[in-house]
Amino acid sequence: MGEFDLIARYFTRPARPDGAVALGVGDDCALLAPTPGMQLAISSDMLVEGRHFFADVDPDALGHKALAVNLSDLAACGARPLAFTLALSLPRVDEAWLEGFSRGMWALADAHGCELVGGDTTQGPLNICITVFGEVPPGQALLRSGARPGDDIYVSGNLGDARLALEALLGHTPLPADVLARARQRLERPTPRVALGLALRGVASSAMDVSDGLLGDLSHILKASGVGARIDTHITSKLIAASAYPSSAGALFDAELIRQCTLAGGDDYELAFTAPPTQRDAVAAASQASSTPVTRIGTVLVTPGLQLVDAQGQPVDKRYASFDHFR
Ligand code: ADP
Ligand code: MG
Repeated sequence: MGEFDLIARYFTRPARPDGAVALGVGDDCALLAPTPGMQLAISSDMLVEGRHFFADVDPDALGHKALAVNLSDLAACGARPLAFTLALSLPRVDEAWLEGFSRGMWALADAHGCELVGGDTTQGPLNICITVFGEVPPGQALLRSGARPGDDIYVSGNLGDARLALEALLGHTPLPADVLARARQRLERPTPRVALGLALRGVASSAMDVSDGLLGDLSHILKASGVGARIDTHITSKLIAASAYPSSAGALFDAELIRQCTLAGGDDYELAFTAPPTQRDAVAAASQASSTPVTRIGTVLVTPGLQLVDAQGQPVDKRYASFDHFR
């Protein structure tokens, strides 16, 4: 199978007449027709074999994740997904792999009405780069720079399970099979919080998605906003779903491992955001409207820096380093 057959077979579908895509795959450029007056929100994420995923990962899950991590960035900005491009470097034409990869990708694309409109396909080490395009009304994008002293800090969903799965798969932490299976879902099939991001427009003062670990990502908000924060670690430690599974019996993991996973785990793809206390009802309404749980985990402070406290309000005197490719 040649390059163009491959594109036609796995990455081309009939255009949706009603959508924002005026011209899809097949010409030199795709043409998008965003709603008049809207701003385009654009983000790229690259997944590299051996760096972001294991070589033998289920291709269906990989197709899902490659798009999910991009949709997560749109969610963090409160943007509605429109379309995406896919630049793919493949070692060889493996039809079973392409079949699985495209199935996982299409399923998530369909769930969000986000159309594949173009890309590039070359031979080389397995590497997947997706660029997503979304739209947001001017002035309503959720930015990192809007957190103000006194704001509440929230995070959606669960934290730390993806990292726990990674630790188990690397052979560092033994896990019961059912606990690993569920944690692994979080690592391999993250849920982009698109509906929550949309519902938080006009409610959150700042937002970002948690991809490299809560504290590291939060520090980007703090820096961009010129503020500090206090985080309640006894609350964040409860956000790891695995410790609540019956077979974990609540006692499988030590408190330090849980803190490492929840505070600096990475691959969570949840939204971390801030909102003034006057917006608590509105945050609850956004959570309900998007069927996405959110938890209040701390407070924005005037003093720069991150303070971690325990259930007694005592400082937690430890550093939790987030993922950094070049460190
Ligand atoms: P060009 O030579 O103009 O760069 P290509 O020959 O690379 O175009 O691609 C032909 C068409 O197929 C273009 O419309 C391009 O956007 C699309 N395409 C290439 N690779 C992919 C892919 N992996 N997924 C979706 N569309 C693709
Ligand atoms: Mg090309």
